[in-house]
Amino acid sequence: MFFDALNIPYEYEKEGFDLDGVWYLPDFYLPLHDYWIDVKAEELLPNSDDYKKLSSLATQIGKDVYYTVGSVWTPYESESDFGKELKNYYRPIHPGGNIASHHWWYECPKCGDLCLVCFGKPGDKKCDCILTGDDNLLQFSDTPHLVEAYKRARQARFEYGESPS
Ligand SMILES: [Zn+2]
Repeated sequence: MFFDALNIPYEYEKEGFDLDGVWYLPDFYLPLHDYWIDVKAEELLPNSDDYKKLSSLATQIGKDVYYTVGSVWTPYESESDFGKELKNYYRPIHPGGNIASHHWWYECPKCGDLCLVCFGKPGDKKCDCILTGDDNLLQFSDTPHLVEAYKRARQARFEYGESPS
């Protein structure tokens, strides 16, 4: 399991929510990160029921709710694949229903913090470390630690049929 492989604390189906009469149970809560995460089979259309539920939840709790799509691969299989095919990403739906672009797990090269960031938006980092050079955060999405976690999660999924998180 990906979060296990990274020692990221998580709670599976921690809490359900009553969204104006619709019961909703997000898949994961990450207490250290304060992330709510739902695993989806595919990209959500803005008018879909699933999107509306996540949007209602975000509005109700007053914070972003992430959904994740794809298998447990590094975002791109290699640097040269950039722009070709996304293997795995997270998208936060904001309170009010707007959605942000693709996010990935990022490992801070200075403090080792793990968090979800949007490509090219260092402001999304949890830590306050200042990075030098260009702001290409994607290069820290396939650190050896993260690559190993993706690999272990894929193996576990293959062996036990676990979910792709
Ligand atoms: Zn840091």
